[in-house]
Amino acid sequence: MSARIVPPASIGFVGLGNMGYPMARRLAAAGFRLLVADLDQGTVQRFCTETGASAPNSLRELGQQASVVITMLPDGKAVRLVLLGPEGVMAGLQPGGLLIDMSSSSPVETRALAGQLGELGFPLVDAPVSGGVVKAVAGSLAIMAGGEAAAIAAVEDVFAALGKVFLTGASGSGHAMKAINNFLSATTLAITSEALIAGSKFGLDPATMVDIINASTGRSNSSEHKFPAFVLPRKFTSGFYLGLMAKDLRFAKALSDAVQAPNVFVDVISRLYDDAERALGPQADNIEIHRYLELLGQQQEQT
Ligand code: NAD
Repeated sequence: MSARIVPPASIGFVGLGNMGYPMARRLAAAGFRLLVADLDQGTVQRFCTETGASAPNSLRELGQQASVVITMLPDGKAVRLVLLGPEGVMAGLQPGGLLIDMSSSSPVETRALAGQLGELGFPLVDAPVSGGVVKAVAGSLAIMAGGEAAAIAAVEDVFAALGKVFLTGASGSGHAMKAINNFLSATTLAITSEALIAGSKFGLDPATMVDIINASTGRSNSSEHKFPAFVLPRKFTSGFYLGLMAKDLRFAKALSDAVQAPNVFVDVISRLYDDAERALGPQADNIEIHRYLELLGQQQEQT
């Protein structure tokens, strides 16, 4: 049975990007002692100055000093490197230490990693999140937690500082749920874009179309939030990279394939985002799928 982690327990937090930075800041504000790491040393310095957190000299030292280590990295490959690479977290983590991967990693890879870490005596909880930067700042993320119930219960206070927990079941199920959610999220964004471009070309006003869709049966989280905030004002600054969304869709596709579920839509949407990533680059904003579809429209006009 894992001991409950309460402030001022030490939390190692690896990955201070668009999401990790505000999440770690909330944990510091809740009274936890933060030990942080990121490839970008400037960001690490800024975080430590802002919050009073410390930056150990190595990931091994971070593991040694932490009761729980959270990873918020691009994907499971980076997580594996940080945990099991040379001088990684696992070289220092003490018996009883807990691991939480809050990145959106591949569910299949997570199962394998959790098995490997379990053999070393350390439970891995997969706890990806939804809600974007805005909800990371507010501490109102949806947290999809898979893994051992006792380990999840032990970090209840950690999760409480970040958002609301939904238990998804066995190891890897949180990451499966996240990939499935982002399949839906990416799909409504792309299909609403396609619909809006067609309507605009016919002469309809885009803002009027969004108002009507939001009062009608075609509405979605994308039409209600992303179109007014980002697409209509052409502000491609949501804080979620196109390359990360394309990665999540590849995970959703691999999941469908692994369980032999129908993959008609996930196949098309995943290929669309892969093409957009190739055309616009991985660090384009995910909202720029709209710009990519506009480009496709312009190419069609020329043929
Ligand atoms: P990001 O690219 O902004 O941040 C990732 C951070 O990890 C960077 O600061 C990078 O320097 C660091 N990093 C990468 N490899 C590292 C390593 N080996 N060691 C130490 N640091 C390393 O990404 P993000 O938007 O913060 O997303 C993080 C994860 O959360 C991703 O899996 C993403 O899919 C997921 N996610 C993002 C959002 C969003 O709105 N941005 C929402 C939900 C989930």
